[in-house]
Amino acid sequence: MDSRILRQIPKMDRILAWGTVQSAGEEYPRALVRDTVRLELDRLRAELLAGQPMPGNGELERRFAEAVRQAGQYHLRRLVNATGIVLHTNLGRAPLGAEVAAHVAETAAGYSNLEYDLSAGKRGSRYSLVEELLCKVTGAEAAMVVNNNAGAVFLMLNTFSKGKAVAISRGELVEIGGSFRVPEIMEASGADLLEIGTTNKTHRYDYERAVSEKGAEVLLKVHTSNFRVMGFTEEVTVEELAQLAAEQNVPLLYDLGSGFLVSPEKMGFPGSADVRRAVSSADVVCFSGDKLLGGGQAGILAGKKEFIERMRNNQLLRMLRVDKMTLAALEGILRWYLDPAQAVQHIPVLAMLAASPDELRGKAEHLAAELRGRNPSFTFSVVPCRDEPGGGSLPGEELEGWAVSVSGSLSPDRIEKALRRCETPVIGRIWQDRFLLSVRTILDEDIPAVLAAFSALEVS
Ligand SMILES: *Cc1c(COP(=O)(O)O)cnc(C)c1O
Repeated sequence: MDSRILRQIPKMDRILAWGTVQSAGEEYPRALVRDTVRLELDRLRAELLAGQPMPGNGELERRFAEAVRQAGQYHLRRLVNATGIVLHTNLGRAPLGAEVAAHVAETAAGYSNLEYDLSAGKRGSRYSLVEELLCKVTGAEAAMVVNNNAGAVFLMLNTFSKGKAVAISRGELVEIGGSFRVPEIMEASGADLLEIGTTNKTHRYDYERAVSEKGAEVLLKVHTSNFRVMGFTEEVTVEELAQLAAEQNVPLLYDLGSGFLVSPEKMGFPGSADVRRAVSSADVVCFSGDKLLGGGQAGILAGKKEFIERMRNNQLLRMLRVDKMTLAALEGILRWYLDPAQAVQHIPVLAMLAASPDELRGKAEHLAAELRGRNPSFTFSVVPCRDEPGGGSLPGEELEGWAVSVSGSLSPDRIEKALRRCETPVIGRIWQDRFLLSVRTILDEDIPAVLAAFSALEVS
């Protein structure tokens, strides 16, 4: 190996002065740019020592600029969800949509009245900012917001059942994705678990005996979310439980997980979780802010005034408190629920769930036509597909969707990988050896990113 070749490697300062490298690194810390260039120089040196040829000048500049561009990308960034799974937990669950996101950005960029009562000119409470709205849309007497639903369940149990026996059906002792296990969270909150009934059947008399003979002081109902028992089954409805709880004078707590704030029948999911129905029966109901509600990560607690009041006085609340961005997002989404017809149009999650197969087919045809003009190396066809609500929100429900199927000289695996690495990544799915872009979850404002991804897709 000729050591003179190593001397041809450009110096750091010269590389930093290259126009493309400068513009790639313009918007982030200079130290990060230098570190990246240093790493890339080490790599180049190792390649040359291994006998590889020195790249030409243009090639070298492209290489350094690309390394800098990659290093400067945010770790958390926007992408296109083309999986057809509406509440995709790995992809950030509910998208807020541009209008609500703009309100969040505006509120977060400066100061806000997070804990300041503007009419009284004195200290206010962050918990009261959306309470009125939550009461209106859920029908509850009182409501509050915490960090997430797991936190809401914990706060509810810790406040009402610490050191007390809590009756829960064996059919509801579930684990919900990402290590939320009902028995474990009960134990951590200080409640004593009293299992009743069996996995497939729990009757009213099981709850009755739990209270009258086994000393249960609280009834807990948990929505089984991502799990469904089929066949020979029986569960006690929240209305029946409410009647029993009133007769026995014990509180009824309900972890609904997720539910509609508009009529489930009108959304096309009759019999699925209904927040208003749950709230009209249980003493406290909790559910996620970023599942069917369609907002950001949050846990909503709604119910009787005295119950909410007691949770508000629990010291642990401080650990679960929500930030201004969460509250801004929640208010932006919740307002639309004042008019259910508008909610379905303006809340992205609801609009995606309500999209009709005809509408989706039109959208897929339109996208396929645009894509054909972008990259002649691929064939784009429109095919029916199965979408999902996701997030464990509507277990077992499948949605009739439409997708653009992509084929060409690259295998589906290679297409999947290349799109995942684009500047705005596009996440699709592989089904029966085809790469599919399901259009249900592609937002209108995402279309340019999808087109750009395919324009840049190289066949080699
Ligand atoms: C999703 C879910 C949770 C956890 O809610 P997060 O908002 O993810 O913390 C708890 N209980 C049930 C029944 C759920 O479906």
